[in-house]
Amino acid sequence: MRLGRIGGVVTAIALAATMTACGSSQKTVDAEASSAAGGGNSGGLVGVTMPTKSSERWIHDGDNVKKQLEALGYQVDLQYAENDIPTQANQIENQITKGAKLLIVASIDGTALTSQLQQAADNKIPVIAYDRLIRNSPNVDYYATFDNFKVGVQQATSLLQGLGVDKGEKGPFNVELFGGSPDDNNATFFWNGAMSVLQPKIDDGTLVVKSGQTDFKTAAILRWDPATAQRRMEDILTKTYTGDTKVDGVLSPYDGLSIGILSALKSSGYGTSGQPYPIVTGQDAELASVKSIIADEQYSTIFKDTRKLAETTVKMADAVLKGQKPEVNNEKDYDNGNKVVPSYLLDPVIVDKTNYKEIIIGGDYYTEDQLK
Ligand code: BGC
Repeated sequence: MRLGRIGGVVTAIALAATMTACGSSQKTVDAEASSAAGGGNSGGLVGVTMPTKSSERWIHDGDNVKKQLEALGYQVDLQYAENDIPTQANQIENQITKGAKLLIVASIDGTALTSQLQQAADNKIPVIAYDRLIRNSPNVDYYATFDNFKVGVQQATSLLQGLGVDKGEKGPFNVELFGGSPDDNNATFFWNGAMSVLQPKIDDGTLVVKSGQTDFKTAAILRWDPATAQRRMEDILTKTYTGDTKVDGVLSPYDGLSIGILSALKSSGYGTSGQPYPIVTGQDAELASVKSIIADEQYSTIFKDTRKLAETTVKMADAVLKGQKPEVNNEKDYDNGNKVVPSYLLDPVIVDKTNYKEIIIGGDYYTEDQLK
């Protein structure tokens, strides 16, 4: 079964919902937690808050963190806030009231949790920021994430590879740039990483951003909303790409946005043998997007193994709760405006049609069947 991946934004969302409902990827992405550590639930309550179920990755993240904590004997309160900031703030307050011993937070707006984190600190509850840094608070103890600057570098590198620039193609190529949600600290890291590679190519004329929209503020998509990205792409196509002018590449920082962008392109006549899709990047290796890559629509994604992020975070949490010092590998890059938060950074990987079998299927992230 091939789920239509440019059937619009709804596809991604429906897909995420279906996956939760039927647990279709449980054998792979959702790592089996080992029960070697004993099981039971004597370790105390851990509060886990995730941003939304509308994107597949957070479902895997939540499931993996929960399972692995439970295997170590902790009780877990796992909450999703459907990208609503006050809901997430309430969920954290509730977890504090319920007596959580530690909080793991993947924030929606990284700047909006200062008072909840103060409340946690007043109750001596340690906080681990999960994937997204929580800003403007001294009360973030640790941070587990991927190397977010590198994600941006990889997205841009893959865009250039897709255009053939790495093999000497001189262009000029018309490209358009998309950024993530401005309230997500990661979005600036992705953008800065990508621009560190793209700006020199814009400066030497290899790449041309025809719309003229080259600053993060204009390119950013609030709450990573696929429909907003689709509208922005439609707008750019209508205003800038008239006549024979075609877009050759699109920097997209997240698979959900890529689906919206590809939908806009399809409505504009791209995706035929005469007019193939431009090179479109992504992030998260979501199922619909890996299928899209196989079908020669989306060009690439960045694979971030959520099983490993969960494992790293759970190890950190367990160490903190046992009064030990967790392992970190970066104590300089993630200044949250108040302190540099000790971090553990994992490595992201570029995935395209040439290596998805090895990385995604070989790594047991999805089965071959799931990708049909
Ligand atoms: C995550 C990305 C994800 C994006 C949208 C970011 O904070 O790091 O993996 O694509 O949020 O959910």
